[in-house]
Amino acid sequence: MARKKSLELYIHIPFCVRKCLYCDFLSASCCGQEQAEYMDQLRSEILASGPWYEGYEVETVFIGGGTPSILEPEQITLLLQAVRRAFAVAEDAEITIEANPGTFLGKKLPIYKEAGINRLSLGLQSASNDELRWLGRIHTFEDFLKCYQWARMEGFSNINVDLMSAIPGQTVESWRNTLRKVIMLKPEHISAYSLMIEEGTAFGRRYGAMPGQGEDSLALWPELPGEEEERGMYYLAQSLLGEAGYEQYEISNFSRAECRCRHNVGYWTGAEYLGLGLGASSCVKGQRFSNETDREKYQKLDFSLDGLELLHGHIHLQSRKERMEEFMFLGLRMLEGVTDMAFTREFGIHMESIYGKVMEDLTKKGLLKQKGTRIALTGLGIDVSNYVLSCFLLDGEG
Ligand code: SF4
Repeated sequence: MARKKSLELYIHIPFCVRKCLYCDFLSASCCGQEQAEYMDQLRSEILASGPWYEGYEVETVFIGGGTPSILEPEQITLLLQAVRRAFAVAEDAEITIEANPGTFLGKKLPIYKEAGINRLSLGLQSASNDELRWLGRIHTFEDFLKCYQWARMEGFSNINVDLMSAIPGQTVESWRNTLRKVIMLKPEHISAYSLMIEEGTAFGRRYGAMPGQGEDSLALWPELPGEEEERGMYYLAQSLLGEAGYEQYEISNFSRAECRCRHNVGYWTGAEYLGLGLGASSCVKGQRFSNETDREKYQKLDFSLDGLELLHGHIHLQSRKERMEEFMFLGLRMLEGVTDMAFTREFGIHMESIYGKVMEDLTKKGLLKQKGTRIALTGLGIDVSNYVLSCFLLDGEG
């Protein structure tokens, strides 16, 4: 029997208790009735999608948002039942849910476990309650600690903690404190991203290119750490997490042995993924598409007819050039980099023939290292990764 192809599922839950001040994700607060209606529609989308992917086996499911843990836990059970009905899910699939420590997880965790969730991603961001307040988070560090302990008591043995550096008012010392407190808990995985200032958010108005528009109260917010301090925070994370036995396997991700996030590794290494739910993106069968982003329109789609086509909007067929660029952009985010063997297998041509000059220049500048036929970012290359990755854009069309 032919082996099934691997598929990753991302399921979007676009609800939050309230908007964090820095966040531009597709999420909003809304009432329980609207949430229930959305979940019904999402299940219809899942059931309608399954038959299109019969030759696939689902290796990972990532329930993200938004704040999936805002929902009644039974809604997550129903959601995963629909996934299993519609798709062939591997027995050892990694099934993650993002959970916010401010959403009363105590009673929800056993139901998640029962539903088959085997990885929990807790959004902490900082161990300083002042910093959490500046971010507009709905929880304290103590709330997080309780959730973490409940999760361990419930038997969750694969936990990620999300952290954030370069927060307004944050210092290298307070970042050290956050890292230390989290390391002491020994989570299997830590994601440590730098705060990005996005347009259209409260932080964008306070700290963006054209600050000072809008709320007067924003003027009272503390300053962002400087560039050098921000860099110092990154190095500190690398050294403290390294000393504590975490392997840095991606620019912003650290894990204990065998505990890398399979879902994200798949994404960085070119796995096919299907996004389900409002605004979710997919790249599968060489096609890239994104779901409807307007919730009212999404709710009206009739999946028994042509709803899937309407849902996916414009389907973009990826050109070979785009796939090559993406192979490099995403693959080089992994610290082990990319190999010529994988490139050749994918494109039938050596990496050297396409990127030889770029690789040589970047290696001379100390931004790339080559080991045999494998290339990867150096420490310096990670520092300026946006620049390095942009060098892999190819000229011309198609
Ligand atoms: S909880 Fe997450 S998705 Fe929701 S507003 Fe905050 S950062 Fe955005």
